[in-house]
Amino acid sequence: MNATNTPLTDFIARLPKVELHLHLEGSVRPETLRELARTKGWLKRVGAAYWAWRRARQSYRYGSFRKFLRSFGAATLLLETPEDYALATRRLVEWLGRQNVRYAEVTLSAGVILWKKQSVEAVFDAVSAAAAEVHGRTGVRINWIFDAIRHFGVAHVREVLRWAERFCSRGVVALGIGGDEARGPAGLFAEVYAEARAAGLHRTAHAGEVGGPESIRQAVELLGAERIGHGLAAARDPTVMALLRERRIPLEVCLTSNVATGILRRLEDHPLRQLLEGGLVVTLNSDDPAMFGTSLTEEFLLAANRFGLTRDQLVCLSENAIRATFLPATEQQALLQDLAKVAGVRGESH
Ligand SMILES: [Zn+2]
Repeated sequence: MNATNTPLTDFIARLPKVELHLHLEGSVRPETLRELARTKGWLKRVGAAYWAWRRARQSYRYGSFRKFLRSFGAATLLLETPEDYALATRRLVEWLGRQNVRYAEVTLSAGVILWKKQSVEAVFDAVSAAAAEVHGRTGVRINWIFDAIRHFGVAHVREVLRWAERFCSRGVVALGIGGDEARGPAGLFAEVYAEARAAGLHRTAHAGEVGGPESIRQAVELLGAERIGHGLAAARDPTVMALLRERRIPLEVCLTSNVATGILRRLEDHPLRQLLEGGLVVTLNSDDPAMFGTSLTEEFLLAANRFGLTRDQLVCLSENAIRATFLPATEQQALLQDLAKVAGVRGESH
């Protein structure tokens, strides 16, 4: 049988995938939510059920980015104990395995944990143990990105950095910032990002999601961000496109997310093709899959079905993601070889 003749879904399922932009807190799917709520009082059980129902009923659309941020905050409140975080991690990594995601850099909002006045240490102990346990069973490996809330200010971001430094020998590979770009412009955090670099941590930043192209330029030039979360605003400025192309800075594109949070009116408005045709390093990601009713598999399907990407281009997106990981070169090579086994049979007869 010719591999190119197999259905697209089968091809995507077999494709070894890597996810670089995935928030643990936004990945708690309704079944996990119910599982979590089982240990809580009746009010929380009813609340969780209502919340899951409402998300589905509103077709996973939040109307505006501010409303989405509020919903994200609410979603994190159910994660009350380290054990809750561990369960969320276990279910996420198992689910990644079912999608043939071999490796993920999962964002843990250390900023939200601090905001909730929980122990970052206890939560991290729990999630890293849970991830190790599932890795043993499924082979899916994850590392962590500690994310701070940019509109909480510099001292907050620095506190998150200190925690990231503390756990950098235990799988925390990078510092990131998310939240409201307008209320927390990149320039504020230049010094903190320089400290992260000096500590041997990688640096990512959400930019050009709600903000304009200038926010991307600042993340690159002032923060030294090695990957950009979203970055769709780059398409509006050829000089920012050129900057990203010349420095080979990967974009973590999240198609469904940008519609769900109200940044784009329709999926067709996403500049995915323009970013690809402009020679940028594009990767596909699911962001907050449970909040948006999506998955990485679904994002690949959308890229093919709604944006007309060929199988070669899908392979290329997966390859880009592997090369954009913060893994050592030898581990990237192992993933690339797995990918070549699937991609390499295209067009050959069996
Ligand atoms: Zn994100």
